[in-house]
Amino acid sequence: MLKVGITGGIGSGKSTVCRVFSVLGIPVFQADVEAGRLQNEDPKIISELIGIFGPEIYSKEGLLNRKKLASIVFNDRGLLEKLNSIIHPAVHREFEKWSARNSNFPYVIYEAAILFETGNYRNFDFTILVVADEQERIERVSKRDHSKPEDVVQRMNNQLMDKEKIKMTDFVIENNDNQLIISQILKLDQRLKSKSHVWKMDR
Ligand code: ATP
Repeated sequence: MLKVGITGGIGSGKSTVCRVFSVLGIPVFQADVEAGRLQNEDPKIISELIGIFGPEIYSKEGLLNRKKLASIVFNDRGLLEKLNSIIHPAVHREFEKWSARNSNFPYVIYEAAILFETGNYRNFDFTILVVADEQERIERVSKRDHSKPEDVVQRMNNQLMDKEKIKMTDFVIENNDNQLIISQILKLDQRLKSKSHVWKMDR
């Protein structure tokens, strides 16, 4: 079973692409969803976060106030790194357990907003980068989240530029309005399946 990481800048359409892989029967692990779950449910992570950020980042019901946490780490690189050093290894451990349960599939997908920025891309057999024009991404996200275009741009500026990520990725899916993603995904699915087969035979 191959491990494939998918990423893409905000609004590039990586979740949309992953939904298509899912329909094809490929298991998809959503790293950001998993991180959110762990932050609300894992007692060790909860106590570590409270130790660093204080109890006020959790509501009375015990749910993490992600907006509050984001605003704290936004301007403090040190705290952001601390947060990542707690969350990323925990998510990775969950992914490893989940992958073992899905080892009968030719490949599985790990979807994350950041992959190249953290060096995590090295943990995958292959990586896929979803790209779309910046203006289009800004329009999509403003519409989806009812957010201001300048806020979307600010979030974009925290991520690596596509031209940097393209140098590191194995495959690219282009997802502008006029491009058909289904045919690109079907081709990629065939390529990954054939590589998975070769990989198994070689072992
Ligand atoms: P984020 O990083 O913000 O989670 P994402 O990369 O996962 O974003 P999606 O949520 O898949 O992106 O897509 C962003 C928005 O753009 C969604 O509302 C989605 O329906 C829409 N969208 C995705 N692809 C296209 C497309 N080819 N044409 C038009 N709209 C699209």
